[in-house]
Amino acid sequence: MSKDDDKLKHSKRIYQKDNVVKNKMKVAKAYGWKHVLANPHKYLKCSLFSCGNSNCIFCMNPRKAFNEKTMQEKKFDAKIKADKNQDE
Ligand SMILES: [Zn+2]
Repeated sequence: MSKDDDKLKHSKRIYQKDNVVKNKMKVAKAYGWKHVLANPHKYLKCSLFSCGNSNCIFCMNPRKAFNEKTMQEKKFDAKIKADKNQDE
C-alpha cells in the first residue's frame, strides 16, 4: 500500500471521530450537560446516557437485569434437548 493511501485512511478516521464527537456535543447542548461539554472526547466511545454505574438498572443490559438467557443460549439449550430426545 502506498503512503498516500495510508494518509487518506488516517485522515478519514480522524474526520469520522470528529463527527461522532460533534454529534454527541449537539445532544449534550440540547440537554445542557456541562460535564460532557467540558470533556468532549471523554464520551467518544461510550454513551452519553450511561451514568457510569454498572449495576444501575436503567443503564445496564436488560437481559442481565431480568436474568433472561440470550438467544444464543436458548438455541444451544434447544439443540441439547433435541439431541437427548434423539438418543432415547
Ligand atoms: Zn444509570
